[in-house]
Amino acid sequence: MAGAKKIVVIGGGIAGMGFARTILEKAQGLVEVTMVTKDPYYAAGPSRPLILTGEQEYSRIIRGYEEAAGRGLRVVFGLVTRIDPGERVVEVAENPTRSSRSRIEYDYLLVAPGVVYDGSSIEGYERYWWRNANVYEIGRVDVLKRRLWSISKGTVVVYAPPMPYRCAPAPSETTMAAHTILAYRGVRDKVRVVHVDANDVPQPPVIADIVKSRFEQAGVELVTSRRIVEVAENYVVLDDGEKIEYTVLAMLEPNRAPRFIEEAGLGSSWMEVRSPQDLRSPRYDDVFAAGDVARLPFPKNQEIAYESSLYAANKLLEDIGAGVEPVSVQYAFLGWAYLGNLEGRLETESVQFGLNFTTKPPKPSKDPQPKREYTMHKDQWEQSYLNRLYHPPAITRREP
Ligand SMILES: Cc1cc2nc3c(=O)[nH]c(=O)nc-3n(C[C@H](O)[C@H](O)[C@H](O)COP(=O)(O)OP(=O)(O)OC[C@H]3O[C@@H](n4cnc5c(N)ncnc54)[C@H](O)[C@@H]3O)c2cc1C
Repeated sequence: MAGAKKIVVIGGGIAGMGFARTILEKAQGLVEVTMVTKDPYYAAGPSRPLILTGEQEYSRIIRGYEEAAGRGLRVVFGLVTRIDPGERVVEVAENPTRSSRSRIEYDYLLVAPGVVYDGSSIEGYERYWWRNANVYEIGRVDVLKRRLWSISKGTVVVYAPPMPYRCAPAPSETTMAAHTILAYRGVRDKVRVVHVDANDVPQPPVIADIVKSRFEQAGVELVTSRRIVEVAENYVVLDDGEKIEYTVLAMLEPNRAPRFIEEAGLGSSWMEVRSPQDLRSPRYDDVFAAGDVARLPFPKNQEIAYESSLYAANKLLEDIGAGVEPVSVQYAFLGWAYLGNLEGRLETESVQFGLNFTTKPPKPSKDPQPKREYTMHKDQWEQSYLNRLYHPPAITRREP
């Protein structure tokens, strides 16, 4: 396509795919969109805690990129290691199983690689990382599942690091999944469940009262405003010196942006943007961020990731003079947090909550009663994202 703008997207997750899809739909003929993503598949995050209880299967949350590629998206599998914003080049290391391109030039770049789970600030982590498993990566969910289904006595310790981290309720969801499995297996009275939270309440604050009450009913010990500073083979140490012995550890490491962002001068712990509505880098007009990697004053979750990708797409469409109506978008969402099953049935109940950031102060809402039907709503919501982004309908051709 002569004269088409070269758009490069780093990261084939919710934000990268949301952005790419919108640009392709709205600016057919004006753009060539190349997505660079490290793995030849995507695994959705939200329902991973249900893998622990056996209520979710990997096959339902994993998607390939073939259908999207068949709809006009160019996909390159490889790990982005460097951005040179001055030269407008992205450098890529080969994915071990796929041939790749090592240098990709762009006119516009969207940076959406998500987060890195970084345990390096925790003493002993490098040596004992394998004693830890959580719901945040697909291999590790499986490890945690096996551990929770085999422990017969001892202590399960779950840890939430300081905000911001990806998916505020996931650590509490893990805690309640642990309770449910242990109760189902009839060993709950022989296993302590301790939830250590570096924040003053379990996150997000809008449902903290419900989570705390659920923990009380489930006999979960809650420790707040304490960080884990050391991990050993059988215990963790908190920042006030308290030592907690564990049999199973489900610790989420502190989150940050991938290092190549800092090296490119685009931000330090997170990628800087001009505002939630204008997601360009403050230093470069042609570099945008979206999703969890961006420094936004909102929780890091799928809805915000998608909404930010639409704001970024709108700005880019305006910039290239696409002459189309902007996509309708605002920062507001409805979400669901899994809160296990107090009786130990493998039928997780969830709480529904909403956050509307278009009002000042942001308007929270919730149904205080956890319900089974909300677990089903969350499943439908997750599947609709996966189907929309990874099995997209054909794009209607737009005359250039
Ligand atoms: C366990 C868990 C539970 C969650 N629960 C919820 C929930 O209930 N509700 C909710 O709204 N959100 C939830 N989330 C959060 C949600 O999944 C994320 O906020 C969302 O996926 C962020 O989108 P993203 O595009 O920024 O990152 P991702 O979707 O993670 O996509 C990033 C992509 O970039 C790729 N990538 C990373 N580094 C590179 C690189 N250097 N080069 C090339 N490619 C790279 C990755 O492989 C990935 O494909 C959960 C997440 C997890 C893990």
